[in-house]
Amino acid sequence: MNIQNYINGNFHNPIENEWLDNYNPSNGEVYGQLPNSSKEDVENAYIAAKSAFPTWSQTTLEERSRILIKISELLESSIQRFAEAESKDNGKPIGLAKTVDIPRAASNFRFFGNAITQFASESHDSVGQNAINYTLRQPIGVVGCISPWNLPLYLFTWKIAPAIAVGNCVVAKPSEVTPMTAYLLSELLNKAGLPKGVLNIVHGLGTTTGQAIIEHPDIKAISFTGGTTTGAHIAKVAAPMFKKLSLELGGKNPNIIFADCDYEDMLETTVRSSFANQGQICLCGSRIFVEASIYDKFKTDFVEKVKQLKVGHPSKNDTDIGALVSKAHLKKVKNYINMAKAENNVILCSGNEVTVKGFENGYYLEPTIIEVKTNECTVNQEEIFGPVVSIMPFNTEDEVLQMANQVKYGLSATLWTNDVKRTMRMSNQLQAGIVWVNTWMLRDLRTPFGGVKASGIGREGGFEALRFFTEAKNVCIKY
Ligand code: NAD
Repeated sequence: MNIQNYINGNFHNPIENEWLDNYNPSNGEVYGQLPNSSKEDVENAYIAAKSAFPTWSQTTLEERSRILIKISELLESSIQRFAEAESKDNGKPIGLAKTVDIPRAASNFRFFGNAITQFASESHDSVGQNAINYTLRQPIGVVGCISPWNLPLYLFTWKIAPAIAVGNCVVAKPSEVTPMTAYLLSELLNKAGLPKGVLNIVHGLGTTTGQAIIEHPDIKAISFTGGTTTGAHIAKVAAPMFKKLSLELGGKNPNIIFADCDYEDMLETTVRSSFANQGQICLCGSRIFVEASIYDKFKTDFVEKVKQLKVGHPSKNDTDIGALVSKAHLKKVKNYINMAKAENNVILCSGNEVTVKGFENGYYLEPTIIEVKTNECTVNQEEIFGPVVSIMPFNTEDEVLQMANQVKYGLSATLWTNDVKRTMRMSNQLQAGIVWVNTWMLRDLRTPFGGVKASGIGREGGFEALRFFTEAKNVCIKY
């Protein structure tokens, strides 16, 4: 199936007729093609967005809200179709796509469709000076949204929905590795009554299509989710042009387990926070630190539970771990496992590729647990972004806090304890944008989402996202 760009409400082939292969990671086969869009395609998307802006930015909040909620409803009524497409394109288990990815993409549109009707700006009464200030929150104009492959439609819509809710028009690019559901989404937009040009979806490589978006002089804001190296490159290009930037980047998140936690709940959640989506979630807890008094028990129980996870074809309902997203990514993850061995760490569980019968060329890897001796080793310092976690014991709160923070990233952290004072102390000091206590990936879309250090700048979610996609203008009136 060939994917096309969606520009000005219509489907287009790339002007230079350059195409990329789209792979199905469950069997390693090419099952379609997508455009590798050039500067000219991006320019056409920009022109469409620019001409839609005057009307869209003046469209009432109720009308914008109605259209966003309509997109959400159309997505909800096509969950099965979208979930199958996401699973095929990405390799994730169909059950995950059906219960997490696609429902969440629908929620993103519904949430921001509702949020825009509640978004208010401030006023300041300059008492004693006979003046009042009010702040306008105006849309920026044409903005760029660029997303990664791990949660394809979920993260794509997480950017697009707030951007259009506040009245911007968008040039958006999904990952070239998983373009399918963004393409299917474009089919729903006309049905939902989204005016032509408000959202334009261009496909292609980061280095061609993505680069054309970030260096476009009139695309005034970039919302990006992806790797830290790409984020640094985008910052370098965009900063001298004074673009607004939101960068959601990599992570190496600590999962800190104290002996006083609710053990069974912790164990079950830790299996999920380690290996959900083949460990390819930026929020996965890839460094597990366990209080020494329960370390041996945890090690035995964790390994036993992880060994029960079923690696299999993503379309099967009993599959826990599907395929990794690409051959190149599988190679990268395997390299890290080899590096861990070379650094004399102990592989407690697997590290092996799996052959799934009938799908021998798919990119399957068993969930892997590595026992490390120090937090300074490579597997604890670099983002692997696959089904690989490390475990090691700790003795004191100070020691584990220091190790948790001793990494260049700062996206999320998970804490397992029933001690409220310790919870407060640790939460205050953990260098992360998000701290979960006795849970993982519980998401309330109103909360700020983002990281510190090399995990990025800016926050998404709730009114933070609506603020990012608007410019504040203060008006001071003397009376
Ligand atoms: P990536 O950085 O390779 O690609 C992300 C997107 O950027 C893709 O659409 C890609 O085409 C585009 N891109 C690449 N080069 C570009 C350029 N020069 N100009 C403009 N765009 C360019 O990341 P990935 O491999 O797709 O995703 C995995 C990474 O994403 C991991 O590091 C993961 O931690 C991170 N991630 C972060 C979050 C978060 O919320 N912080 C969420 C999910 C994934």
